[in-house]
Amino acid sequence: YTNNLRMTHNRVKVVVRVRPTNNFAHDNIEIAEDSKVVVHSNKHAVGHINNQVSDWSFPMDRVFHNAAQDSVYNNCVSQIVDKALDGYNGTVMAYGQTGAGKTFTITGSTENFQERGMIPRALSHLFQSINSMIENSVTVRVSYMEIYNEVLTDLLATEDEDPKTLTISEDDGLTVVKGLNVRLANNEEEALNLLFEGETNRVIAEHALNHASSRSHCVFTVHIESRSRTQSSSNYTLSKLNFVDLAGSERLGKTKSEGLTKKEAMYINQSLTFLEQVIIAVADRKREHVPFRQSKLTHVLKDSIGGNCNTVMIANIWGESAQLEETISTLRFGTRMMCV
Ligand code: ADP
Ligand code: MG
Repeated sequence: YTNNLRMTHNRVKVVVRVRPTNNFAHDNIEIAEDSKVVVHSNKHAVGHINNQVSDWSFPMDRVFHNAAQDSVYNNCVSQIVDKALDGYNGTVMAYGQTGAGKTFTITGSTENFQERGMIPRALSHLFQSINSMIENSVTVRVSYMEIYNEVLTDLLATEDEDPKTLTISEDDGLTVVKGLNVRLANNEEEALNLLFEGETNRVIAEHALNHASSRSHCVFTVHIESRSRTQSSSNYTLSKLNFVDLAGSERLGKTKSEGLTKKEAMYINQSLTFLEQVIIAVADRKREHVPFRQSKLTHVLKDSIGGNCNTVMIANIWGESAQLEETISTLRFGTRMMCV
């Protein structure tokens, strides 16, 4: 190998965030060394996962338990934002069952300042950095879309636009979603207002399409254009920073109880499987073909996963005994991502 190759192939970083629980007496989860999750199968455990094994151990890049939003931000998102300002695409993804804390992590609370999620923190950090830059002038634009049953919806569409006439194309190595509004944000406040506008549209879309947010993937993208103030203005870099709130990873068995249709379950199942395949294929340097186009999600993220990009997967788990099966499934997914 050469150092150079290493530098251009960043492994996906996988961290686990455990949602705080009220009944710790029933906890099966143990956090060891900040970088390992051990799951005990005690009397509360679900027997049919595996009757023989009593403990499962999952080494991760980092484990957050009872961690505040700022600690998650500083440890795994902040450097991706800095890198995006240097011209590298970045992606922050939240994976896990519904209720595990994906939306809390990505967007967070709008009422409590301490509980702001990764997007508002990244926007604040980004504009602070931009405002202190002397040599470069940076333009920030944002877009926000939802992927539901393989259909893209623009969450920042204006009233007179059809939010669903979006197609994906590739232009000069960058993925472009045609028809998607990419709106200028002159400062942190404008960017936050666009986030809120998108959130509102997300709720409206949920009612109109009659589906819960847990069944769709949401992609908030910050488009960063950086120009040198001193050199020729035709010289500029473009980078993207994506925040992905993935559809709930719980699948089989829940379909009936939660009214999930077969079609919805199939689309979610497939797109999460394709996401995994793409991450694994990107990591394999010998592999020439990466199946990005198998799903809308991976196609949209084509230029922002692996390779030269900085990617963090936040696996959200719910430490309660009743959720053990889903917890183990999420940790297994995380472990597979760790190996690439
Ligand atoms: P998901 O998006 O994965 O379905 P949510 O983010 O909506 O899950 O979280 C479910 C509930 O748990 C919400 O009420 C949320 O505020 C709360 N929650 C999740 N994670 C945390 C956390 N780390 N700290 C405090 N509350 C949390
Ligand atoms: Mg959610």
